[in-house]
Amino acid sequence: MSPKEETRLTGIGVSSGIVIGKVYLIDRAKVTYSLNSVGKSGITPEIKRFRRAIEHSKKQLTEVSDKIRGDHFDEFKHIIDAHFLILQDRMIVDDTEKIIRDDQVNAEWALKIQHEKISQFFKELDDEYLSERMADVDYVVERIMRNLVGKRQESITGITEDVIVVAHDLSPADTAQIDRKVIKGFVTDIGGRTSHTAIMARSLEIPSVVGLETVSAMVKNGDCIIVNGTTGQVIINPSSEVRIEYEELLKRYQDEERELLSITELAAVTTDGYRMSLMANIEMPHEIKSIKEHGAEGIGLYRTEFIYLNRKSLPTEDEHFEVYKYVVENMKPKVTIIRTFDLGGDRFLSPIDLAQEMNPAMGLRAIRFCLKEVDIFKDQLRAILRASAYGPVKIMFPMISGIEEIRLTKMILEEAKDDLIGRGVPFDENIEIGTMMEVPSAMIIADLLAKEVDFFSIGTNDLIQYSLAIDRVNEHVNYLYEPLHPAVLRMIGGVVHAAHERGIKVGMCGEMAGEPLYLPILVGIGLDELSMNAMSILRVKKILREISYKDCRTITDEILTFATAREIDRYVFLELRDRFPTIFSNNNITH
Ligand code: PEP
Ligand code: MG
Repeated sequence: MSPKEETRLTGIGVSSGIVIGKVYLIDRAKVTYSLNSVGKSGITPEIKRFRRAIEHSKKQLTEVSDKIRGDHFDEFKHIIDAHFLILQDRMIVDDTEKIIRDDQVNAEWALKIQHEKISQFFKELDDEYLSERMADVDYVVERIMRNLVGKRQESITGITEDVIVVAHDLSPADTAQIDRKVIKGFVTDIGGRTSHTAIMARSLEIPSVVGLETVSAMVKNGDCIIVNGTTGQVIINPSSEVRIEYEELLKRYQDEERELLSITELAAVTTDGYRMSLMANIEMPHEIKSIKEHGAEGIGLYRTEFIYLNRKSLPTEDEHFEVYKYVVENMKPKVTIIRTFDLGGDRFLSPIDLAQEMNPAMGLRAIRFCLKEVDIFKDQLRAILRASAYGPVKIMFPMISGIEEIRLTKMILEEAKDDLIGRGVPFDENIEIGTMMEVPSAMIIADLLAKEVDFFSIGTNDLIQYSLAIDRVNEHVNYLYEPLHPAVLRMIGGVVHAAHERGIKVGMCGEMAGEPLYLPILVGIGLDELSMNAMSILRVKKILREISYKDCRTITDEILTFATAREIDRYVFLELRDRFPTIFSNNNITH
């Protein structure tokens, strides 16, 4: 179906920016096949045919992998490797062959039955991260199936004109082949913020929206489509007025981007001298190039859990070390704040066998997991310490909820230091440590925690989840996710006060930190540092350089008397719209 009339959809914007273009639909219509009884004599030829399809699939993946080689997206390689592992997995190969043998059926049917079994198994696990990994299994099965049936693999290589790719989902192998010169954006029916596709979209820095549910069924090749990766809005076949409106918006966005680059080297300071460090969040080392181009003053949050994903065995201390050393050496003399891994919750990993939990966000995740699996934790700590010999590093611990936890963590860190001293390996003996402030109990005892660490960094993504009791990955309660909730703001204010009383710095590294609308409050409340995705840094800096601390204090004092997030939002928006009419208009793409 392709609507002639303008149709608007809203999904999850995972990579910011606007693009207007022509649809290139990846038709993932499933291959068709039916049940054939092959009889006893047909078993061996059928198994041979199945094995040929597997070998052919491996060959295709090798070809994809070769295309990636030389590119700087190392992580794509990991994903292709994961697909290779699935292609060799007993559940795919041996179990399908067993069905061919036992039921004397054709390979397609046996694979279909086995695929359904695996799918059921994943469903019963009821885990968001794992269900996203099921998508990898689906891609691999689809590939084998196409090779069995002899269908051409749908691919996004060989596109010669500018397009916006629309697909039910894009496999990591697809995203690995995205040529940014012609593919200007993409949108998909499914996916969430932790999906590989979303992660890749951000690293490619092309506007993308996922989770649109039905978009691939609503377009045909050549349709006009507008993608706003900042707001998550997608417009199919826009009217000429809307198209013109977006063309103007896009032009303004591009002009703004260009203009913003001119302030890269300028200080992040208000008109009356309030200095705020603007740092970057990274997940993959290759992002360093972009964060430098956007003037990051350092890395305020390096999420290290990605080192553990898409692999069958745990990373060794040396593997960790090589990655951290690369990051630290490339960032120096600027600081890198490495957060120890936060696995569990919605971020599941393959080599560690975490128990299935009723409530994983509040279960054995982050520091709790580390304090239980001390050896795994120490491998990472020793690697971070070793990297500190190559440039300025700080360590940050996620999900600290009380004093005993941080004391125990510090003891383990000391043991890791002793190991290195025993081995004669150099590291920064005065390395600073900090806690993420993302659990309400920690926020409330910030005065006590401040005596234990050198800095705080407020993780608003989890803080809001826990304080307002809203599952951050559940779209049904998304409307309650309010960073400006008075409870959240009061807690932030309390933590800043406690930190400054003790003379330690306090930053913010949750998504809230990169939202220009919130900046006056974050300044007024007295934060020392904000850490955000690369694309937000200059937008935030521009506003920072044009407001005064005094005005921010006035705004903050005022909004702290308000009872609802909505009132606060409205008030700050109007204040900013009056001062920055081009940035904050009613349908502006910046917020
Ligand atoms: C947070 O919780 O705000 C945060 C920065 O950490 P993560 O999003 O990785 O949980
Ligand atoms: Mg967190």
